[in-house]
Amino acid sequence: MKFYASWIFKCPRWIYFRVKFPEKEVINSKIKEIGNLGEKIAKDYLKKDYWIFPTRKRFIELDDFKIVGKADFKVLSKDEKRFEVVEVKKVREIVTPRVEWIAQLNLYLKMEGIERGLLLQVGDNIIEERVVHFNDGLYERSIGFYSEVHEYISRGIVPPKTGNCMGCSYERLCISTDNSD
Ligand code: SF4
Repeated sequence: MKFYASWIFKCPRWIYFRVKFPEKEVINSKIKEIGNLGEKIAKDYLKKDYWIFPTRKRFIELDDFKIVGKADFKVLSKDEKRFEVVEVKKVREIVTPRVEWIAQLNLYLKMEGIERGLLLQVGDNIIEERVVHFNDGLYERSIGFYSEVHEYISRGIVPPKTGNCMGCSYERLCISTDNSD
């Protein structure tokens, strides 16, 4: 079974549906466009201080599943000659970095074998740069999260709805699915 790094700490029910019924996802193309715009702005921003390298799909292989991911950018700082991994989030306003963003970047750091990363929040007129160091505890917590979701999927049990649900690309299926399925 394959999980994406970008799914870390997402609603487990969403992951269940995404794995079991990829064809039923209702995709909002605007979200992808906004993400692409954020990456373009971030690339121009990074060019000043870094050499930018293309990234490749990487894997973390575990006994029961693998985690797949591709960081937005891998960069080499021009002054300190140090490789870093960059994750970009296009946001309406700059906020305290969400744990799922940091955990996603943490997984890319593990995949690339790099210790230091940058989380860039790209707002309308502002970019916030946050240094993130690889965190082993957060990595273990992330593996635990995927293991729990893997357990649900293997047993064919739909995870319960999350309390603070704001809707998602599987909302329709979620509403129509009885939890005893
Ligand atoms: S609608 Fe809410 S509870 Fe249901 S899968 Fe989506 S995020 Fe999870």
